[in-house]
Amino acid sequence: MVNVKRFVFNPAQANCYVVSDETKECVIIDPCARSEQERVQFQRYIQEEGLIPVRCLLTHGHYDHILSCDLVRDLYGLYPEVHQRDKAWMDLVDKKIEEVFGVGGFKYDIVKPQHYLQDNEVIAFGSHRLITLHTPGHSPGSAVFYCEEEHIAFTGDTLFRKGVGRSDMLYGWIEDLMNSLRHITTLMPNNCMIYPGHYLDSTIGFEKKKNPYLLPSWYKKNTGMKHLVVLTGAGISKESGLSTFRDKDGMWQNLNAPRLASIQGYRKNRSAVLDFYNARRKNLLTVEPNHAHKVLAELEKDYVVSIITQNVDDLHERAGSTNVLHLHGELRKVTGSNNPNDPNCIIEKPLDEPISIGEKAADGSQLRPFVVFFGEKVLNMKPAERIVKDADIFVIIGTSLQVYPAAELKDYVPWKIPCYIIDPSELWSGDIYGFEHIQTTAVVGIDILKDKLAHI
Ligand SMILES: [Zn+2]
Repeated sequence: MVNVKRFVFNPAQANCYVVSDETKECVIIDPCARSEQERVQFQRYIQEEGLIPVRCLLTHGHYDHILSCDLVRDLYGLYPEVHQRDKAWMDLVDKKIEEVFGVGGFKYDIVKPQHYLQDNEVIAFGSHRLITLHTPGHSPGSAVFYCEEEHIAFTGDTLFRKGVGRSDMLYGWIEDLMNSLRHITTLMPNNCMIYPGHYLDSTIGFEKKKNPYLLPSWYKKNTGMKHLVVLTGAGISKESGLSTFRDKDGMWQNLNAPRLASIQGYRKNRSAVLDFYNARRKNLLTVEPNHAHKVLAELEKDYVVSIITQNVDDLHERAGSTNVLHLHGELRKVTGSNNPNDPNCIIEKPLDEPISIGEKAADGSQLRPFVVFFGEKVLNMKPAERIVKDADIFVIIGTSLQVYPAAELKDYVPWKIPCYIIDPSELWSGDIYGFEHIQTTAVVGIDILKDKLAHI
């Protein structure tokens, strides 16, 4: 268990964190108390909690994050540590502060680091570890400190709640910042807490949805890459060995859909429905992403790719796609029965651990799979519409387009952009007006598509 104490210090309102665990050892991140009162407040907390500071870390070398390095040195004998590429900032800080930040009259004791951090350097305290992730952009040596086992990250001025740090200041670089954001949002799970250098804390999942700088349109604007939007359905997972629902040989031919996968069926017989989903969850462990999933992940090198999927499996994620929106939920997650869309109740659960009767979600209600049952509202339609409206290229793979409301998404496709559908069956031309039909399976069709995209 890690305890995170946040202080808001100095006129720039920067966050200083003291991160401790049950051993009482702690790391100090961005010591930035300025006034005497702030310094006393910081010192008193450490004293009253009986903490033993073992490292003093800086997310970057900007003045508003380092103002009490002298205090930390004098009290605990610790020197600040910052990524090596912010050495320039640490060397310049007293000369440049007025010119860059427009603030004068800061007389303080500049403490130079004795050790500079490297990318992936591990910082141990108590029974925990923080990994240094080099995330340039706001400054050349900006870093994020990530505690993988506790799902928390100190993001400095790289990622804020609903914002990102400026990249237009001395030594800042927008391309670097975008790569850094992509790096951390890919690496960290959605339930990872983030503690930024300014303002309030948040989670990676919330930021992926609400932070305008993490949305494809912002990447597009800054990279000139095209936005490739791909809607996938059961046909893509079928070739990994997962049964489809509606085909002639599909799952529903042998099973009773209303009983096992509808909200009414769930209300009548919870254990039958849970058994069915436990089996589906476990089965997911036996399949692997196929060539089509993998190529879609690879396309992220050349395109801003958004995947909208009707599938509840995690094969896109396992293939390496970083931007996947699920319309019908996710098998690897579970939630509560009272309000299945309550974010506080949605958690990941290992696929080989069955959900049992009596097992409770955070709100005290029976745990259930985080999937949309028949009779329930499809998730994420509004965000999906927004993504489709922003497409430069639109592709449909492995869905018969008979599943509403996902099928309606094609009505939001911008006029005259290239559109493709990969599907082995004969399709009615009225259904796919404006689309080029690649009439084959996902695994074969994906290479044909890749070739066509290269010639647009
Ligand atoms: Zn800064």
